[in-house]
Amino acid sequence: MGLIPLTEPLLNGRELEYVTECIQTNWVSSLGRFVTQFEKDFAAFCHCSHGIAVSNGTVALHLALAALRIGPGDEVIVPTLTFVATANAVRYTGATPVLVDSDPYTWNLDPAAVAAAVTHRTRAIIPVHIYGHPADMDPLLDIARRHNLWVIEDAAEAHGAEYKGQRVGGLGHFGCFSFYGNKIITTGEGGMVVTNDPDLAQKAQFLKDHAMSPVKRYWHPEIGFNYRMTNIQAALGVAQLERIDYLIELRRQHARQYAAELQGVPGITLPPEADWAKNVYWMYSVLIEGDYGFSRDEVMAGLKAQGVDTRPFFYPIHTMPPYQSGQRLPVAEELSKKGMNLPSAPTLTEDQIGTVCSILREKALRT
Ligand SMILES: *Cc1c(COP(=O)(O)O)cnc(C)c1O
Repeated sequence: MGLIPLTEPLLNGRELEYVTECIQTNWVSSLGRFVTQFEKDFAAFCHCSHGIAVSNGTVALHLALAALRIGPGDEVIVPTLTFVATANAVRYTGATPVLVDSDPYTWNLDPAAVAAAVTHRTRAIIPVHIYGHPADMDPLLDIARRHNLWVIEDAAEAHGAEYKGQRVGGLGHFGCFSFYGNKIITTGEGGMVVTNDPDLAQKAQFLKDHAMSPVKRYWHPEIGFNYRMTNIQAALGVAQLERIDYLIELRRQHARQYAAELQGVPGITLPPEADWAKNVYWMYSVLIEGDYGFSRDEVMAGLKAQGVDTRPFFYPIHTMPPYQSGQRLPVAEELSKKGMNLPSAPTLTEDQIGTVCSILREKALRT
């Protein structure tokens, strides 16, 4: 039996045509029509006025923090249950990530825990829309307003997800996206910073390209970065973006099938979709609880033996060596132990999802 993949990009739109154009016209580096078009179109998709394309999602986060002048002595509130890049980007600036527990229902930043973590050093909050479900933004934006904090959304997993009818990315001061190969849309490697603030956009654009003076070439008033995206990457991005609604709808359709087939299986908790949320199901994720009869790791091994690729939830960042402090964040620790991502590739067939679900329903897990 062939492997049922966890993720796999779908590149059968105009990707090849646009990349070929880059090569035939020599526009292979970071100038070219696709970079500007991708920035404009992706920002519009997020209902934002500005998009700044960068080389990956991690540097998108770093660039946003750098543009906000966050650095040594500052604290930035980050969920502990996220991909490590969210916290690492804070460390790159010299600031301290303050790791906070999750809400047990949305798996995202718990607003009460955020409020309790604010100190006189706090400068920003980075809500992460984990696995495609938006964080509960209103209470977070409220805390930010009360304490005069910046809000940077880490929307690397949530292109097109909606909070109370609004697309993620444009809800805070900056939104950061990744276009890594397994994300909702891909440019191979790539990222984007979006914002509605023209001054912040200009600052990010400036820092991304070596902080070169826009009026005096090769004059650098401060230390910037080379975080540019290539025209070839952007060509992929433009083609992917033409089909993003379809790519999201495929994931939502797969989620509906999973939910219908796994509903009511004791010990399997399905992923959230709050009534204020549109989940884009970047990874269709479930919790394996006590009464299922097999542990999460046994379920993963049993599926693997039958050709089904899965992935465990992230380890909470506060448990890994660079961030260990003896801190206990029990909700995230629990989610991390129970959670797994089921096959979520847009290329999955109804039969493949049916196979995964019947193995889980029948607990046909012995290897
Ligand atoms: C993928 C991801 C990133 C980093 O993106 P890269 O493009 O891989 O650098 C950051 N945050 C989260 C939550 C992610 O899932």
